[in-house]
Amino acid sequence: MREMRLSISNKSGLIPKLISYLYPSECPSCGAATDNIVYAPLCISCWSGIKKYSGPACNICSTPFSSEYSDICAECLKTPPVFSRALSFGLYADTLATAINIYKFHGIKRLYKPLGKFLLEFDIAGADAIIPVPLSVNSLRARGFNQSLLLAKFVSDNSKIPLMLDGLIKSLETPPQIGLSAKERISNLKGVFRAVRDFSGMRLLLVDDVMTTGATVKECSRQLLKAGAEDVVVLTLARASST
Ligand SMILES: [Zn+2]
Ligand SMILES: [Zn+2]
Repeated sequence: MREMRLSISNKSGLIPKLISYLYPSECPSCGAATDNIVYAPLCISCWSGIKKYSGPACNICSTPFSSEYSDICAECLKTPPVFSRALSFGLYADTLATAINIYKFHGIKRLYKPLGKFLLEFDIAGADAIIPVPLSVNSLRARGFNQSLLLAKFVSDNSKIPLMLDGLIKSLETPPQIGLSAKERISNLKGVFRAVRDFSGMRLLLVDDVMTTGATVKECSRQLLKAGAEDVVVLTLARASST
């Protein structure tokens, strides 16, 4: 791509205009000039500051917490989740949050590759299929792409674990979740996701961009297990605090 840019004749000045239109010139994280086309509009320095979370976290759901006495968070102890494990690369903060928002809400689709690389840092061998959290038809129409699907495809392409696109659908819009407790959020999502094939005996990797309360991935996991799946592991880019 870089070579192509250099070799294109630039008599009219249209090419630089096009590039500055496609890649806004300021990094949204630090304000410096964008210096690359892989992470653009984010600059290389900000992108390389994105680090995997390595602090104390729940062994089941990856919620960051500090306790010397337990490896499992209070929520998982009270109500063990239906998925066996939720893996998350980082915390939904700083540059990682900016990158995800730009990817998801500003249509910078090509960021699925550098973001997807973060998901390859986990040992996912053993999964039989990768399932992205689906969007409803209306959301897909409005956004133009499913951010979780592109991430799932990237993981599939690089791990050779098959991507399964027709197994789980979102047939209803998510009802408003504001003001609901974690438990209410899950029951509020009943009937929203539907497994439409048999997953008997399969170990599944469910991919989403961000996990907040976990209501969405819990309900998706519940549907996949109901359809016969043996095990569901959730894989997300970032863990957001629900408070
Ligand atoms: Zn920057
Ligand atoms: Zn937990």
